[in-house]
Amino acid sequence: MTQQIERDTLNSVRPHLPYTELSGFEVLTDDERAIQQAMHAFARDVMRPTGIAIDKLTAEQAIAPSSPYWEFMATAAASGIEFDTADDDVAPQAMARLQSIVIEEFGWGDIGLTVSLAAASFPNMMAKRIGNQELVELTAGKIGAWVATQPDRGSDGTMLYPGERHAKAATGNKGNLTARIAGGDIVINGQSSAWVSNGAVAQVAILTIVADYGDGFFDVDGHPHGVEVIVPLDLPGVTHGKPLEKLGQRSLPQGELFFDNVKVPVRYAISLGDEYWHGHASTWSTAGVAMGQMITGLARAALEHAVAYTHERSQGGALLAEHQMVQSRLGAMARKVETMRALARRAAEYTLLSPAKHPYYTGSTKVTCTDLGFEVADEALQLFGGYGLTREYPMEKLFRDARAARIEDGENHLLNMKFGYLTSMMYRSARHGA
Ligand SMILES: Cc1cc2nc3c(=O)[nH]c(=O)nc-3n(C[C@H](O)[C@H](O)[C@H](O)COP(=O)(O)OP(=O)(O)OC[C@H]3O[C@@H](n4cnc5c(N)ncnc54)[C@H](O)[C@@H]3O)c2cc1C
Repeated sequence: MTQQIERDTLNSVRPHLPYTELSGFEVLTDDERAIQQAMHAFARDVMRPTGIAIDKLTAEQAIAPSSPYWEFMATAAASGIEFDTADDDVAPQAMARLQSIVIEEFGWGDIGLTVSLAAASFPNMMAKRIGNQELVELTAGKIGAWVATQPDRGSDGTMLYPGERHAKAATGNKGNLTARIAGGDIVINGQSSAWVSNGAVAQVAILTIVADYGDGFFDVDGHPHGVEVIVPLDLPGVTHGKPLEKLGQRSLPQGELFFDNVKVPVRYAISLGDEYWHGHASTWSTAGVAMGQMITGLARAALEHAVAYTHERSQGGALLAEHQMVQSRLGAMARKVETMRALARRAAEYTLLSPAKHPYYTGSTKVTCTDLGFEVADEALQLFGGYGLTREYPMEKLFRDARAARIEDGENHLLNMKFGYLTSMMYRSARHGA
């Protein structure tokens, strides 16, 4: 029967198979393809085996000196792999495509390690973005993290507008990690959530936290003041918590960070005062783009595993792939991967080119991509039947990894709600302006 399929496919009177790249139905330039293939080799030979190995370790073992995590980070650094999209020699549109192509390959290899690499580069990337040479040097070559969420301040930290608060809340939520700004210093006290990516291993971090500039933590609307500040994590008063045990993306070391009267100069701020909420919005929309790209890679990996398995396993007297219902399910999965890729690219291009980007838009594309990615991983596992649940096969890890992405970088229902809020604000603004 397989031979029959091949004969039909190759028969010259039938339409040819379409041209595709590793990343589906598109035509890359020669340069793009060369980069894609180099990154694919790295993802296949280094990231995927490392991610699988770390997944089997406890959280403590995963960051112990003997963990393959350290060799991976060293290899990535030696290979010059970083997430920065600022390059004066490459036009923004070309950069958006390149970024999408590269991060998709990394997500295909291992999404947990991809997030770790992205978080590691983030403080340095933001220091370059604001052109602060002192901070560029301070963050270069160090493992970074982005500290925003706290035990009592999860989704609340992403409320950019006072009107998003519940009617009964007189003020926003100041959380458990705050700064006081006075006399040229920023003094930080409290703790992050246990979710901070690279929290267990980071050497430097960007903190996005509520701040008191001398007149309290809130403005007249009850909205918090804030600061985005880069903090070296070897300063007195900083301690790392235990690495977090969790369901998915186990190759990403997460954990709490504690700050006890940690002092940095005001010039370490990325945004402060009246610039804070604009700065936060910009940082978040820049960071948010990568999730869509990496989950596209994960979903493509799940689809590839499912296609291969359905060409090995026979039931009902034929290969699974020869049953029309299975073909329909594979078609639905492939369609979703194409949709994810197209949307992730659009979000990357918009965020790099737009004179006024917005994290609620970027967040909405993250919701679509991670919800679809989870559906693809779920269906791929289902096509493996009972084998999909076992640790011998790749599907259960991809399923767990995809599940985490629906909470990571903003919980999906909340991000969806925010896109609705933005849509309403744009309508009201247009009506008001008309
Ligand atoms: C893999 C991973 C990596 C992460 N990396 C980082 C990182 O690098 N740095 C960092 O700071 N954080 C990080 N996080 C934390 C992540 O951003 C938060 O988990 C997320 O923002 C949700 O916050 P929460 O977990 O406190 O949930 P909560 O905000 O408590 O939400 C719980 C539930 O309540 C609902 N809910 C909350 N608020 C409302 C509301 N106003 N109206 C209606 N429903 C509501 C939500 O939809 C959700 O279902 C990471 C998380 C994961 C899973």
